[in-house]
Amino acid sequence: MFDNLSDKFQRIFKNLRGQGKLTEENIREALREVRMALLEADVHYKVAKDFVTGIAERAVGQEVMTSLTPGQQVIKIVNEALTDLMGGQSEPLRLIGKPPVCLLMVGLQGSGKTTTTAKLARKLVQEHRKPCLVPADVYRPAAIEQLVTLAGQINLPVYPSTVRQKPEEIAREAQGYAREHNCDTLIVDTAGRLHIDTELMGELGRLKEILQPAEILLVADAMTGQDAVQVASAFHETLGLSGVILTKLDGDARGGAALSIRAVTRCPIKFIGLGEKLDALEVFHPDRMSSRILG
Ligand code: GDP
Repeated sequence: MFDNLSDKFQRIFKNLRGQGKLTEENIREALREVRMALLEADVHYKVAKDFVTGIAERAVGQEVMTSLTPGQQVIKIVNEALTDLMGGQSEPLRLIGKPPVCLLMVGLQGSGKTTTTAKLARKLVQEHRKPCLVPADVYRPAAIEQLVTLAGQINLPVYPSTVRQKPEEIAREAQGYAREHNCDTLIVDTAGRLHIDTELMGELGRLKEILQPAEILLVADAMTGQDAVQVASAFHETLGLSGVILTKLDGDARGGAALSIRAVTRCPIKFIGLGEKLDALEVFHPDRMSSRILG
């Protein structure tokens, strides 16, 4: 994961460690390289700039420079700063409210929304919840079939949506359906488009009104870098997201989305997708991600 970025960080830190005593210039030079590495990983330019400025304030000080292991101290500061940048700590789902508690899954087409809906359902089953899956993408029959197939793999009930229904009608009826099937959680897979448009946002707004979801989760493709950050900003402004699930981190994503989304949108990354299989979903831990990046 983020191999390029990791390689660069390791090279920068190897140099620092090799220096013994550090001058202010040594540290500033290393931080210039850190900034370049972040930009090359497609981190938002302002995020990269603020990140490096914050580290400089802490690292170019008496304590670090007079320490016996100044290089090590700088690495520790970078590690803490990366962790903070990604939100500090993991953010659990808040499944609060009268059952069935609803999770509204939103995102662009191809982001991994339907797969992630099933992955999340599987995770909730492991936590002894009983989810009901709701396909609400009535524009693509294949999307409904895909969710039905995935639900079959994990033996979960699916509200029998049809392409003749309106998403709003599906949302209203699915709540009763879930209660009849003794389900305590409703996971609604909404339509995606290739681009954000007002029609899609309008529909999602109406679904939010009807379902009063405990969580609105944006599924975003990490491979798209800064586009994912812009998508997250747009969805958050219009709908008020409670979290982001970043998919395809098993691919060769450069890291920009994971490192910038929280800082740009203030919205936490709650899970990461690490493969096509239904067990490839992990809780996002900023500290573990930071350690992975720093190697
Ligand atoms: P949707 O259009 O947003 O519902 O996207 P899908 O759920 O159909 O996923 C699009 C493609 O991305 C499928 O081939 C999925 O198997 C794949 N996919 C989803 N999540 C991940 C992931 O975390 N890693 C990888 N490698 N592929 C994923």
